[in-house]
Amino acid sequence: MIGKTIPFDAASIRNDFPILKEEVRGKRLVYLDSAGSAQKPKQVIDAVKHVYEAEYSNVHRGLHYMSEQTSARYEEARLKVARFINAEFEQEIIFTKGTTESINLVANSFGIKNLGPEDEIVLTWAEHHSNIIPWQLLRDQVGCKINVVPVDDDGVIRLEEFERLISKKTKIVAFCHVSNVLGTVLPVKEVTKIAHAHGAVVVIDGAQGVVHMPVDVQDLGVDFYAFGGHKVYGPSGIGVLYGKRDLLNVMPPYQGGGGMINTVTFDKTTWADLPDKFEAGTPPIAQAIGLGAAIDYMNNIGLNKIAEYEVDLLEYATQRLSGIEGLNFIGTAPGKVSVLSFTMDCAHPHDIATIIDQNGVAVRAGHHCAQPLMERFDIPSATRASFGLYNTREDVDILATSLEKVKEIFK
Ligand SMILES: *Cc1c(COP(=O)(O)O)cnc(C)c1O
Repeated sequence: MIGKTIPFDAASIRNDFPILKEEVRGKRLVYLDSAGSAQKPKQVIDAVKHVYEAEYSNVHRGLHYMSEQTSARYEEARLKVARFINAEFEQEIIFTKGTTESINLVANSFGIKNLGPEDEIVLTWAEHHSNIIPWQLLRDQVGCKINVVPVDDDGVIRLEEFERLISKKTKIVAFCHVSNVLGTVLPVKEVTKIAHAHGAVVVIDGAQGVVHMPVDVQDLGVDFYAFGGHKVYGPSGIGVLYGKRDLLNVMPPYQGGGGMINTVTFDKTTWADLPDKFEAGTPPIAQAIGLGAAIDYMNNIGLNKIAEYEVDLLEYATQRLSGIEGLNFIGTAPGKVSVLSFTMDCAHPHDIATIIDQNGVAVRAGHHCAQPLMERFDIPSATRASFGLYNTREDVDILATSLEKVKEIFK
């Protein structure tokens, strides 16, 4: 399915997203906050609606028709996810409620079991709080140390810095595939080789990765890869943890409850096989099926096509905003994707966002759940425009004229 030769038709794609027809303050909605959460195509909305209208019950439990149907759809979604990231086995796909929960699962299960006071974790300065706090909580429990790989002034994170910080003491190397603030794409495959040479496992926060490029977890060689449904045009409340089967098999459960056991007595309980061992309780059923529909949607357009289109749009936006005097980009790494973060000399990010919202332009302003990175660039916050497959050059033009207006106001 990847790279089918249909042309990329932004107009017809926009048509798939009902919300883009909504007016905001009497203006066309210019949605530039997809890195916060992406909008949903009607194919996803319809898939979720269909579950509740025609195929809904709990999964894996009942011996009745509806439960069988729902279970089959739920497992189909797992298969779609496995193919989407080229996992070797379907059981390597654990459904969670988001990227955040996926990372917490690894920290609590793998981390508690395998790390002690002598051990170290390597993170980067570019991490989202979701990929910082779970490791701090782990550190506080087991007494390990956290080392942080620096980011340079352009937002580049250098391989040599990973090399410098990864040692025999390192047990976990955890970092983002793509920074949600800088747009920097990290050298996942190369870092993974270094980590493995030192006996460490690699955990990737892929929240901004899978949506902007085809991902092949076997080729990357990573041990864990986490992402959420809501940033890949799927529902919120659903996430994925990919983990290598051999690792997941020997990890203890993360939560206990129904669905994750084999036998239970008050003396001893045995765990279910993968992936059920990590899916205690009723899972997000309709959301998982909706995620499957989102993956179908992206595959039908073509992951490479989406990536190409977005790179072109980002280049256009970079050019357009470069023309605005007093606007400073945060993150200018070569090969960056998806987001443009910036500050303006004339106004505070919150004022910028509030003013351009009057024009129907939705951007994010704040610390973007990356306070250490704000500190690194010596700014309290930034404005971020982020792009999805439904954005167009017209959106960028409206953003640029709106920012010019901000300058007028604060002159
Ligand atoms: C959004 C985001 C997260 C959090 O993801 P959820 O699926 O909402 O839990 C983590 N890391 C990065 C880089 C993100 O952009």
